[in-house]
Amino acid sequence: MDWDRIGNEAVAALGEYLRIDTTNPPGNETRGAQFLGGILKDEGIGFELYETSPGRTSLLARLEGSGEGKPLIMLNHIDVVPADPENWSFHPFSGEVADGFLWGRGALDMKGMGVMELFAFIAAARQGMDLKRDVVFLAVADEEAGGYLGARALLEEHPGELEADVVINEGGYATMDLVPGRTFFMIASAEKYGYWLRLLRRGVGGHGSMPTGQGALERMIPALARLLENKRPMRINPTMQAFFARLAEHWEILAPFREDGDPATLARLIEENDLAALPALGAVLRDTVSLNMLNAGVKINVIPDKAEAFLDCRLLPETEGDEFLSHIRNALDDPEMEVDVFMDMERSSASPHSGPWFDAIAEALARNYPDAVVSPFMLSGLSDSRFFRARGVPCYGIIPARVGLADLARIHGVDERIAVQDVKDGVRFLYDLVVSICA
Ligand SMILES: [Zn+2]
Repeated sequence: MDWDRIGNEAVAALGEYLRIDTTNPPGNETRGAQFLGGILKDEGIGFELYETSPGRTSLLARLEGSGEGKPLIMLNHIDVVPADPENWSFHPFSGEVADGFLWGRGALDMKGMGVMELFAFIAAARQGMDLKRDVVFLAVADEEAGGYLGARALLEEHPGELEADVVINEGGYATMDLVPGRTFFMIASAEKYGYWLRLLRRGVGGHGSMPTGQGALERMIPALARLLENKRPMRINPTMQAFFARLAEHWEILAPFREDGDPATLARLIEENDLAALPALGAVLRDTVSLNMLNAGVKINVIPDKAEAFLDCRLLPETEGDEFLSHIRNALDDPEMEVDVFMDMERSSASPHSGPWFDAIAEALARNYPDAVVSPFMLSGLSDSRFFRARGVPCYGIIPARVGLADLARIHGVDERIAVQDVKDGVRFLYDLVVSICA
C-alpha cells in the first residue's frame, strides 16, 4: 500500500471538504454528501444518498463481505457548527494549510475523521481483500442539531441498511498532556443523556410599589437557589472507573487506588484532590444541572405573575429519569412549581470497555502509535452513537487527532485545526482497524 500517496490524497480531499460550508443550521449537507460521492465515484465505488429533508442528505457506501459477521460502520457527520470568521487566523471555510495544520470549521469535529474513514475505506477497496463482514462508510446530516434528520431518521427508515456489529464514530481524541510524554487515546464507550426541563412558577402580580412577597420571581429564585445548592452525589460508573484505573498507572496522586483498586479509595482521592472541580471531570462524575435561561417580567414597575426557567440537565447512563425528576422536585421544595420534561434524549447504556471490539481498537492504536495509552471514557455531551447504542449496537468514539487539552476549546470554537500528519496517520490506523475487524 502506498501510504504516502493515500495520505496526500486524504489531505487534499479534506482541504476541499472544509471549503464546503455545511453550517447547521441550515446544514446544506447535500453539497458535502455529493463531494464525498464524487470521490467514491472516481474509485468506481457505488453509494446511496438519502435525503431526509430538502438539502439534508446523508451518504452510505458499502464494501460487501461474506456475511460471516454483521457490518462494521464507520460513522461521521457532514454538518458543522457555525463559525464567525472575525477572530479566526484563517477563514473558517478556507481549508488553509499552514504550519503543518489544516485549518477550518470541522477539522476536528468531524470532517477530518470523515475523510480519514473515507480513505481507509477506499484503501480497503483498492486492496480488494476478502471481507468476512461488510465495511460501511456512513456520512450523515444533522448531528450538530441532535441527529434527528440524520442518523436517527436513517435508523428509523432504513434499519436494514444500518445493521451492524460495531460502529466507529467521533468521541474521544488523542490528548497529549494528560500523561506527559505519552499519547492518551480516549475511546468514548459511553455518553450521558440530555434531560431538558422547563420550570414554570405562577405568582401574585401587582404594582412594583407594593410588593406582595408572592411575585413569581420572588418564588422562583429561592427555589432555584435550593436546587443549585443541592448537587447530585458523585457516582463513578464502571466506564469512568476504568478511565481512572488507566490514569492511576501514570498519576502519582492516584497511587493508592492503583495499589488497592478499591472504588472507595478512588472516590476519596477524587474528593481530596478536588478533581471534580475541573468542569470536564465534574461533568462525568455526576448528573448535572445547568440553569441557562430565565424568563420573567415585562416592565420595571410590574410584579410578574409568571416566571419560567430552563434547565439543561445531563444524566449518567445509569440514572433513571423518574428518580432524577423526584430529586428535582424535592430540591426545589415548592409544590406550586410546575416541572415539565420537554426533551428526554435517547438514553443508551454504555458499550463494553473490554471484549473483542474495544480490544481490536486498543490493539490497532498500540500498533500505529507506539507511545499510546488507551482508555475508555464517557462523553458528557451527545453524539449519534446514542441512537445505535439504544438499539444494542456497541459504539466507540475515537478521533486519532493529537491535541493538547487547551486545543479542545477549538472544537466549536475559534481556529479549529488538525495536524496534516494526524490525518495521514489516522487513515493508516483506521485501515488497520478495518483489516483486523473485517478481513
Ligand atoms: Zn461532532
